[in-house]
Amino acid sequence: MQITLFEKIINKEIPADILYEDDLSIVIKDINPQAPTHLLIIPKKVIPKLSDAIEEDKQLLGHLMLVAGKMAEKLDLDDTFRLVVNNGAKAGQSVFHLHLHLLSGRSLNWPPG
Ligand code: 5GP
Repeated sequence: MQITLFEKIINKEIPADILYEDDLSIVIKDINPQAPTHLLIIPKKVIPKLSDAIEEDKQLLGHLMLVAGKMAEKLDLDDTFRLVVNNGAKAGQSVFHLHLHLLSGRSLNWPPG
C-alpha cells in the first residue's frame, strides 16, 4: 500500500503545524483552512476511510472524538465547533487516511454543501 500524505506528516517526513500528538493520534492545522480554526485529527493507524474501520477500531474512533473535544477546550472555541468526516471521493475525501475535520470560528450553515 502506498504511504499516505498523513503518514509522512506523522513520521515527520514533511512539515505540518502540529498542535497535539499522542500514541494514537496527531492533530494538525489544515493547510487550506475553511474556517478560522480548521484542524485535522488523524489516527496514526492508517484506515483509508471511516467505512473501512472495523470492530477493533472502536476505541480508536472514540479516542479521536475525545481528542476533538479536548482540542476545542484547549483552543477555547466557546463550545462551538463542527466535526466532519468526508467518506469517499464523491463526499469530498481527497486524502485516503481517515481524519476528522474540526471547524470553528465562523457561523456554520446547515445543511452543509
Ligand atoms: P479530505 O478532503 O480528504 O476530507 O481532507 C483532506 C484535507 O487535508 C484537506 O482539507 C486539505 O486541505 C488538507 N491537506 C492536504 N494536504 C495537506 C498538507 O500537506 N498539509 C496539511 N496540513 N493539510 C493538508
